[in-house]
Amino acid sequence: MSGGPGAAAADSGILGKLPLARGGVDRAAQRRTDTAWLAAAWAEPGTRVLVVADGRALVRFGEGGAELLFVPPQEAPRGVRFLLGVDAAGVAYFGVLGPLPDTSAGRPDTSAGRPDTSAGRPVVRPAGSATGPAVRPASLREVGQLLDDRDAGLLTHAVALANWHATSTHCSRCGALTEPVSSGHSRRCPVDGSEHFPRLDPAVIMLVTDPADRCLLARNSSWPERRVSILAGFVEPGESAEQAVAREVLEETGISVGQVRYLGSQPWPMPHSLMLGFRALAPGSQQIQVDADEIAEASWFSREEVRASVASASLLLPPPVSIAHRIIESWYGQELPGSW
Ligand SMILES: [Zn+2]
Repeated sequence: MSGGPGAAAADSGILGKLPLARGGVDRAAQRRTDTAWLAAAWAEPGTRVLVVADGRALVRFGEGGAELLFVPPQEAPRGVRFLLGVDAAGVAYFGVLGPLPDTSAGRPDTSAGRPDTSAGRPVVRPAGSATGPAVRPASLREVGQLLDDRDAGLLTHAVALANWHATSTHCSRCGALTEPVSSGHSRRCPVDGSEHFPRLDPAVIMLVTDPADRCLLARNSSWPERRVSILAGFVEPGESAEQAVAREVLEETGISVGQVRYLGSQPWPMPHSLMLGFRALAPGSQQIQVDADEIAEASWFSREEVRASVASASLLLPPPVSIAHRIIESWYGQELPGSW
């Protein structure tokens, strides 16, 4: 099934439009097995190819924003190819898992003979200017917030597929090398015919409040001092997302939660998670008992305490690209700086 651009731009409920849950092209799933259409699209010089390597793509940085750099199909490297979609003007977008284009000798073209839909984008500094290179490889974590809807969606989709192809090359049944099919949206084993779909790990992330509406913030054992976030963990086999919320909160802080309410989701393909955001209510006043293996410290914070701690930099909140940041803001009631 494939939604149009309208569906691609759907917001995530109470959390609004999350940075990595955006899009501006039709994923055109019905084209993924249409070999004649795919061949024609690849032969078309106006087709745009996004090259991805190690979770990064070439990005042009401008004043306050950023945009992806595409190459025409003839300049794309060899590698696993995946159809990302088709925009409203009929331009096809592909991703390729391969070495990033060399930008030292001339820059790749982003318009490639088609009407340029990037009008109004920020003015871009020439590469190698005194303020640093304007074109360089960047990760989703770094630019997800800076890209427009179309580019954020394309990069998220491409990185998710590239990460999967880079690590899931063999059949889990017989060990044979599998081959990409469906324009890179699945792989098939040539020996036993089994089809393998991209791995996706559902993870829950939840803001827990007490009866005074204070929120629980915690520091992971592997994080530096002052860095905090809300609790999170992976959904286990045979478990609902709501059950995972209650289990993780109890395991990590000793707090029992009652009501668990879904807020929204965004992909986090680093390497292959889907973050499911929740609010959870801890009834009664409860003593925090942290699981020292995972959590170094956890405390209840009022809004005023969060405001003061963030202002004095004694607390550092997660970056704006994360769903954690948006969930904390949805509780706080207004924007907060993210400082990781
Ligand atoms: Zn096999």
